[in-house]
Amino acid sequence: MELIGIFGGTFNPIHNGHLVLAQTVLDTLHCTQIRVIPAAVPPHKETPAVTAQHRATMVKLAIQSQPKLVLDTCELDRQGPSYTIETLHLLHTRFPDQALCLMMGQDSYQKLPTWHRWLELLDYCHLLVVHRADKEQSLTLHPEHEGKLVDIATAPQAFSAHANGLISFLTQAPPDISSTRIREQLRQADNAVRNQIPPAVWQYIQENRLYQT
Ligand code: ATP
Repeated sequence: MELIGIFGGTFNPIHNGHLVLAQTVLDTLHCTQIRVIPAAVPPHKETPAVTAQHRATMVKLAIQSQPKLVLDTCELDRQGPSYTIETLHLLHTRFPDQALCLMMGQDSYQKLPTWHRWLELLDYCHLLVVHRADKEQSLTLHPEHEGKLVDIATAPQAFSAHANGLISFLTQAPPDISSTRIREQLRQADNAVRNQIPPAVWQYIQENRLYQT
């Protein structure tokens, strides 16, 4: 079964850590594509001051030269909070013959039990959790996920042999970059942040005067 990566986030803004994460997952799992899905209204974060439209445009600019990364605006077309379980349900109907792999950083996985209907997520997808360089503690499995963990070395085969229900941990961390820190540095007009963002996104931020207070 072919594998599609699902990469949700606020992307406020998208940065090189996100892009390295996506590339590592492509290289590791050999997905046919990764769908990058900006949240309209993230349930666990404050509603971003920068509009969903701007965030989606920045994603589009960041991935324009990478054919396997696809912007998916399905959460922007829905009303209310962007619940991942609803997105997965939709994608499962759109791609019934392919296995979905939801990818996320370690911080998101730790907070997973606060997500809407979190125990049902694995009914629709596999989960790939990526280590985050700023986290000192090791990746630990939630007890509810016991028995579902597969070694990263066998994950490509296991994920394509089953439609859903498995988890793997990728301990190779992308660079230590976070959108929160980028926003802070942009507010302080700290140009050092420039090498953490794709050039086209940097230019878009300047042209539209985003993240200035
Ligand atoms: P913030 O700093 O505001 O929390 P963020 O940089 O985590 O933002 P999100 O859009 O929330 O950006 O991230 C989307 C997903 O990408 C999340 O699952 C997050 O854990 C993961 N991620 C983002 N940056 C990294 C990174 N540098 N290393 C590993 N995972 C990351």
